[in-house]
Amino acid sequence: MIVILKKGVKPEEVESLSSFITCHAPVAIQPVDGMDASVLCLTGDTHPLDAAWIESFPCVERVVHVSGPYRKVSRSSHPEKRIIQAGNVCIGGRKLTVIAGPCSVESPEQITGIARSVQLSGASLLRGGAFKPRTSPYVFQGLQWEGLKMLKNAREATGLPIVSEIMSPVDIERFVEDVDILQVGARNMQNYDLLRHLGRVRKPVLLKRGLSATIEEWLMSAEYIMSEGNEQVILCERGIRSFETCTRNTLDLSAIPAVHRLSHLPILVDPSHGTGKRWMVGSMARAAVAAGADGIMIEVHNDPMHALCDGQQSVTPEEFAQIMNELRPIAAAIGREM
Ligand code: PEP
Ligand code: MN
Repeated sequence: MIVILKKGVKPEEVESLSSFITCHAPVAIQPVDGMDASVLCLTGDTHPLDAAWIESFPCVERVVHVSGPYRKVSRSSHPEKRIIQAGNVCIGGRKLTVIAGPCSVESPEQITGIARSVQLSGASLLRGGAFKPRTSPYVFQGLQWEGLKMLKNAREATGLPIVSEIMSPVDIERFVEDVDILQVGARNMQNYDLLRHLGRVRKPVLLKRGLSATIEEWLMSAEYIMSEGNEQVILCERGIRSFETCTRNTLDLSAIPAVHRLSHLPILVDPSHGTGKRWMVGSMARAAVAAGADGIMIEVHNDPMHALCDGQQSVTPEEFAQIMNELRPIAAAIGREM
């Protein structure tokens, strides 16, 4: 951290600032006098320091951060990309991860049927919501534990590892037993109590980007999980709120190179929630792979017109098969496998 001082500051002002800083963080302070400005270079663990506090000292012009506020999530803490294992699948390596399945589990036939068809097309994990975070309390909320049981049966029938959303810390124990990846939905990205609890389990967590979260806020949420000891975090870009009304969300594909630069964690892209439109899913999936995503998550439904949740953005198994065929040459062109 670099503290830029105002011109003509008095030595006693710098002294009182320095003692404030060393009182709050184990850092060394190196003053540097330039021609135009004097600065204090702080080295050591600057994380406990709040830049806004330091900037509130009258002698301070501005504070410049040299490193990000996250530690375990950062690229510098782990120069190689992190590879996360879920069941027999590795996420973050050369092979792209494809998670497919319905928004919600609706019946044993529905989930096992979809599981078989997406598996044939090359999906490596099965998704299915059992506990649904719906905007209205009056619509379908998911089949809950019954739904999770159906999802487990679909895993047994196909061998595909399963991904499902957890909404409450109370359910963690059963989720850890039941699913291969615990999903944190966009609406819970800043549920810090849930994140801390997930930090204490030893199962991968798929952390979706919050509806209005900056990349830094998203990475700080991942830091909550990692700081408690669980280092198996997979990020998922799913679109953010913008002024645009043509799409449900604005899919931020620039998050892919940004996350790769800032962090070592794998990043997947969800073009279904990212667009909210079935006919856009294929092109955004192709763009995500071309931009270097570690994989994609797509909502697939056997009968989208009658889906209990998110039918408008769900592709049919046939459309999914076609998307997969279109992705293969793009993956190959950038040195990835499908
Ligand atoms: C989902 O994946 O089913 C979901 C609800 O997504 P999000 O949290 O991104 O809205
Ligand atoms: Mn959905």
